[in-house]
Amino acid sequence: MNSQKKIAILEKIKEYDRIILFRHKRPDGDAVGSTKGLKRILQLTYPEKQVLIVNNDYSDYVAFLGAEDEQIPDEMYESALGIVIDTATSERVSNPKFKLCREVVKIDHHIPIESYGDLEWVEEDRSSASEMIAEFYDTFKDELKIDKEAATCIYTGMVTDSGRFRFREVSGNTLRFAGVMLDCGIDLDVLYAHLYMKDFNTLKFKSYVYKKMKITENGVVYILVDKAMRKKFKLTLEEASACVSYLESISGSLIWIAFIETDENIRVRLRSRFVTVSELAEAYGGGGHACAAGANVKDKAEMRRLIADADKRLGCYKQENEGWL
Ligand code: AMP
Repeated sequence: MNSQKKIAILEKIKEYDRIILFRHKRPDGDAVGSTKGLKRILQLTYPEKQVLIVNNDYSDYVAFLGAEDEQIPDEMYESALGIVIDTATSERVSNPKFKLCREVVKIDHHIPIESYGDLEWVEEDRSSASEMIAEFYDTFKDELKIDKEAATCIYTGMVTDSGRFRFREVSGNTLRFAGVMLDCGIDLDVLYAHLYMKDFNTLKFKSYVYKKMKITENGVVYILVDKAMRKKFKLTLEEASACVSYLESISGSLIWIAFIETDENIRVRLRSRFVTVSELAEAYGGGGHACAAGANVKDKAEMRRLIADADKRLGCYKQENEGWL
């Protein structure tokens, strides 16, 4: 079934002279790594084709992977094949002009809540979309070309979206495909320096998060990074949002949440161990994976409701599951 989808996607790619790649808004390592990796593979394999990545926003975090392409006139979309990677819903696509493409392919690993592609390859139990791109390459390796640059992009997506190969979606195939990428000569020292070196200010912020974090009765740990806090530490939205990972290993806390205040609303980043939080996110208009989901709430009152809701769900989980860690 999935091998037929991969064959169909390759056939579509061959049909078009222009291919435009898209990803989700507020990109992470996987969104950027998967699109840039596939772009490089297609450029190396089909030098006569025009392959572009056109989005409306940008990520500082993985800027070391290189820039995307400039905006293009609408007519250029009309004759192109669009490939949207790592994006569950059409509303989350960074560049809404993907809809102008003659045909659209969706490649994704999120829970499929909306179908928007003419051709879709979606597997929600995969650890990253980049893993799917690595598999796509591996399936057609006699035909497709890869190099260190493409492999570094794809590996970056695999490492970051799987929490350095720790999350439950990591499978034997994840590591096998990661191995295929490593064989292309990725410089791991350089890659991990880019990904994990922290600047002084960030560590000061981290210590402040630990000082201010709170815990509910049943063990939901949360932090609100309000605008004053962002200003004090001179944090971009992306830098402030990263704090959700600081809360990830507190004993007894199976759900942890970062709320980041913006000019429009409060961004919610939900993470969990064992307990599913995607339904909680959906109840507030968001979505995501079982243990990593997100939403937006309009104000602090709604934020408090979400915390109470999370606390109740965690309480039920603990009652129903003896021996939780
Ligand atoms: P994040 O906390 O932004 O890393 O998001 C975790 C997961 O939830 C990702 O798979 C996102 O695509 C998804 N997600 C985050 N925010 C939203 C939202 N507002 N609506 C739907 N899905 C979301």
